[in-house]
Parts: sequence; C-alpha cells; structure tokens
Amino acid sequence: MPTHVKRAFKYRFYPTDEQAAELSRTFGCVRKVYNMALAARTEAWARQERVNYNATSAMLTAWKKTEDLAFLNEVSSVPLQQCLRHLQAAFTNFFGKRARYPRFKSKKKSRRSAEYTTSGFRFRDGKLTLAKMAVPLDIVWSRPLPEGVKPSTVTVSQDAAGRWYVSMLCEDPAVTPLPVTDTAVGVDVGLDHLLTLSTGEKIANPRHERRDRARLALAQRRLAKKTKGSANRAKARRKVAKIHARIADRRRDGLHKLTTRLVRENQTIVIEDLTVRNMVKNRSLARAISDAAWSEFRNLLEYKAQWYGREVIAVDRFFPSSKLCSTCGTLQGKMPLHVRTWTCDSCGTTHDRDGNAAKNLLAAGRAVSACGAGVRPQRSSPGGQSATKQEVSRREP
Ligand SMILES: [Zn+2]
Repeated sequence: MPTHVKRAFKYRFYPTDEQAAELSRTFGCVRKVYNMALAARTEAWARQERVNYNATSAMLTAWKKTEDLAFLNEVSSVPLQQCLRHLQAAFTNFFGKRARYPRFKSKKKSRRSAEYTTSGFRFRDGKLTLAKMAVPLDIVWSRPLPEGVKPSTVTVSQDAAGRWYVSMLCEDPAVTPLPVTDTAVGVDVGLDHLLTLSTGEKIANPRHERRDRARLALAQRRLAKKTKGSANRAKARRKVAKIHARIADRRRDGLHKLTTRLVRENQTIVIEDLTVRNMVKNRSLARAISDAAWSEFRNLLEYKAQWYGREVIAVDRFFPSSKLCSTCGTLQGKMPLHVRTWTCDSCGTTHDRDGNAAKNLLAAGRAVSACGAGVRPQRSSPGGQSATKQEVSRREP
C-alpha cells in the first residue's frame, strides 16, 4: 500500500493546432482499439471462451502490422494499451456483477479521452509534455500542484462543449487522516431534495439547477427538430452540451463541498447501493441527472473517506428503507412515492419519508459494520494517526 493517498488534479488547457490534431487522432485510435478488442472478446464470450488483457495486447501488436490499421502506429502506444486495461477492468466488473456488459464507444456520445502512464509523458520543471508532442501543454494552473508531487497517470479529455482538460493523478503528501470520531450518518437520495441525512437535515439541489434543467429540456426539444447533418443541428447540439456542462460544473462544486463536510464530521457514512443496472431503468431527464449526481457523490465520498481514514458503507438497495419504521421496526404495507410524511400504525411516530429512510440506512450500516471484519475503525485506540492510517490501509477496495 502507498504511504500517501493518490489524488487527481484536473486543469483546463489550450492545445496548439498540432496538439489538438494529435489528440483527436489519439482519441479516434483509442476508440477503434477499444471497440475491436471488445468485439474480439464478445465473439470469444459467445464461444464460451475468455480473452484476457494479454491476449488483447497481442492482438493490438498484430493489428498494427496490417496495412489497414497501420495508422495506429502514428499515435502513442501508451493510451492504446491503457484502453485495453480499462476494457479488462470493465470485464472484471461485469464478471463480478458490479456493472453491465461493456458497451462499444460511439464517436458522438462517448467521452473523448486518452490516458498516459509514465512512459507516455514527461513532467519536468512544472511542464507536462505528452508523447509524440514537441512542446508542453499550455495548462491553466487554476490551483497549484503541491510541491514535489509527480504525476503517475495523466488523462487528457475533451468534453462535448469542446473544452480540453488534463487530469494528473499524483501522490499527495499533504493529505493525512483525520482523528477518529464516533459520529455516523445515514444518507438517503431523493428527487425533490438531493440528499436527506439521518439527522433530519435536507440538502437541496444546487440553486439554478431547476432553471438549467428547464433550459436543457428546451434545448433538447429544439435539437430534435433540426435536420440531421445540418449546420443548425450541430449548433443546437453544442448548445445542449454547454448547458449539460454548466449543470455538471455547478453540481460538482456543490458535491465537493458537501462530501468534504460529511467526511470531516463523520467517521462512518452509510449510503444506499444504487447499482448501474438499476439506475438505467428509468429514463426521465430528472432521474438521469439525479442518478449522475448520485454516482458522482459516491465517488467523491469514497475517495475522500480513503484520504482521511473514514468509512463508507453501501447498503443493498432492496433493503426496505422507506417502508420500515425507524422507531419501532414495523414494516408498512404500501408507500407510494407521493407520500412524503407518514405515521406508523404501531408506535404512532410521524416520519418524514426521506429522513426515516436515512435513519434506517444508518442502522443497517451499523449492523454491517459490526459484522464485517476489518472494516470497523479501531475505536479503542486513541485518535492517533497510526491507528487511522491502519484503518485506511485495511479498507476494502
Ligand atoms: Zn413505528
């Protein structure tokens, strides 16, 4: 285990024309290689055979030698290898029932990105130069990289609004675990409120989000009416992407503040385990945005918990958190979604729907934590750093 936590630092950058062309070519090759490897693995899967990373890596070497695919030699081989590792991870998650079957990358909809490990870039004197490039990237250092850190992985991406970003994964010696506390909180996810805590506190969706969503819906309707392939359609698509990006930026800001606060204040945070499989069933726009917010919330929460020696417990979503009275434990019969408050037949307690669910999640999480070996923090030890560091390193992946 590393002594320090890894942390991603993301910055905007402005590529030269040559760099933009090189990166676009690289994104295209990454997509091509990923899709060909996925196709090969899918065919093998149909024959009940498994193809692993090493096999796809050998395929890539062979593809590069063919005339049709010789263009793959024009870009850095590092991102191509990395996308095969990502594909391997996607299959591992699929076999572990944590994710759906991997999907092909589409030219229009998939994220345009390329990942470089240390052999694919040079970081010297605060300047980052990628393989196959003559000059360093023109990065906007919106916050400084901590002194002495070195990136181990660099990811370059372009969002749908055309903005370029570089994310550097670094070991950050500045982050140390917080002293252990005894507080725990349950967090329930909702549609009208972003989150409800077991303390009864409700956290609203970011300001402007309602208005931005209305704008997004309007822009999407306009896009749908434009003729396919027309200049107006491309313009309308950029407009939709811009609103999406604005919603995402504002939401990320809010989620960063919120997760930092929850991790600082609590030793244990219990959340609902909404899997990808369950999330994609409902296709409404509001639902899609709230689901995206939830998975981002969970990501941020989990990595911050790891930095600071905290614990995040995800409770199975089929646990009846809404229907169970958190006071007496009686299960209620029906609980339609429009019911926001209800009174328990048995003990007469009146519950706020989401607050009650959050309390139940907390109780369930405490039960899991008590049973799960190696997950529970060492409460008997003083809140010193050695104990909390151990807690970090023993944490389940
Ligand atoms: Zn009750």
